[in-house]
Amino acid sequence: MSKNFYITTPIYYASGRLHLGSASSTCFCDSYKRYMKQLGYDTRFMTGLDEHGQKVEKKALERNLTPQEYTDKLAERAINLWKYLKCDYDKFIRTTDPEHVKEIQLIFDKMLKNDDIYLGEYDGWYCVSCETFFTNSEVGEEHICPSCGKKVTTVKEKSYFFRLSKYQDRLLKFIEDNPDFIKPEVKKNEVVSFIKGGLEDLSVSRSTFKWGIPLLNDPKHVVYVWLDALFNYLTGLNFLEEDNSLYKKYWLNGKTVHVVAKDILRFHAIFWPIFLMSIDVPVNYQLFCHSWFLMMGEKMSKSTGNVIYPETFVKRYGLDSFRYYVLRNFPYAQDAVCTPLDYIQTYNTELVNDFGNLVSRTLSMASKYFNSKVRNIKSDNEYILNFEKFLESEIENYHKDMAEYKINNALKDINNIVARTNKLIDETMPWALYKEGNLELLESVIYHLLDAIRIESILYVPYLIDSTEVIFKSLNVKDSEKDLCNLNPFTKEVYEVGMLEKPLFPRENDPEKAKNEILVDMEEELKKDI
Ligand SMILES: [Zn+2]
Repeated sequence: MSKNFYITTPIYYASGRLHLGSASSTCFCDSYKRYMKQLGYDTRFMTGLDEHGQKVEKKALERNLTPQEYTDKLAERAINLWKYLKCDYDKFIRTTDPEHVKEIQLIFDKMLKNDDIYLGEYDGWYCVSCETFFTNSEVGEEHICPSCGKKVTTVKEKSYFFRLSKYQDRLLKFIEDNPDFIKPEVKKNEVVSFIKGGLEDLSVSRSTFKWGIPLLNDPKHVVYVWLDALFNYLTGLNFLEEDNSLYKKYWLNGKTVHVVAKDILRFHAIFWPIFLMSIDVPVNYQLFCHSWFLMMGEKMSKSTGNVIYPETFVKRYGLDSFRYYVLRNFPYAQDAVCTPLDYIQTYNTELVNDFGNLVSRTLSMASKYFNSKVRNIKSDNEYILNFEKFLESEIENYHKDMAEYKINNALKDINNIVARTNKLIDETMPWALYKEGNLELLESVIYHLLDAIRIESILYVPYLIDSTEVIFKSLNVKDSEKDLCNLNPFTKEVYEVGMLEKPLFPRENDPEKAKNEILVDMEEELKKDI
């Protein structure tokens, strides 16, 4: 089996600053890539920006910028954000990249020649904000966009159409034959019932504005943004370039996962596979569709002011806490609610108390009782034996959850191991063993704590980027002892450890005050749009 793995975020739409929601998706992909790397995969991670369309043109105009100047600024800002969050992508694609533009023109042309695209007239509803066409029944009598709730406009113009209906049965059959195509199951069911409701041909060109990729055969028209954007997943692999080895390696001979939020499920579960069928490219990807992060219970939106940007949390509690929080609460099938207080409580409980404390306590006990040199003493102590068993089964759960993209549960599995390690301290009471002079059992306990911390840190590597490095240094472990595929629990002969220079996660002592400061900071950050 080939071990090539390709993971993508959606290319975010270039209409403003990226908030916690998009940041959580990108952190998800980055962490997942790091996990697959730990499993020995050759990985590729791509993110980028979707830069064409009427809405971008409008936003640029409002700022007295050309669309290109405007998207250049946004791209720079996105790249800086991903660097700040240590999201280690292999490629940042922009739909204004000349290679992408050229390939889209060729792809459109091919669809036209296949007779999947024809010239007609569009007369109907359009939401500029979502860049989406809607039918009469979808907008209702109020003429409201079913996706964003804004007023839709009527559009009457010559337009090229894609014959979606032609592929309806083939797509249903494909989904039936590939039960893991869309995860989770509930999202798949949504897609299937939508397709069964009947697919209408899709307008795939616009001629009333200029900011897009012109058609080769009819340059008055620009390509519909979604047809343009979806193909980034292929053009980012140099699909139609002379050297398309990346395409062959990752798309044809690897595993691909597109990570998307539920508002763009339909595009990725219906349009995208059909577009691929149209140009004879295998539908060789899995779609993981997650839900939303709600801010204080509502959809994040700049207009209501309840938007939170990652910087607000990172500058207070560090990068690791941010990545940890958004993935620990990652919205799988249901929306997740983020509030500043919940963030602080999660931080104080899980990172400060549970994990951070475990590490510092254990290192000080190793120093106090054994001068920081702890040997691997075998023991038939029942607490220790139970602990070893628990650790093994919970690691299995971790991998199972990761295979299902349940990253929130996977982090819970690691937390369970941490909690169980803390429990071993309560059960065996090292300070009492020391008093009793039972140094043999004491050394075995401390050894087990240290090795558990090593294993927990290996499991945390994709999430806690900075602190796991610090812990590995304090534990003085070799690279070969950081291998997720060869954890070898409780076999390392001896630990010669150091101490932490400062707490891994400093406690937030006044959550209420901190919460209020965060709310003020949110307002400040809101003013910093470009
Ligand atoms: Zn809309």
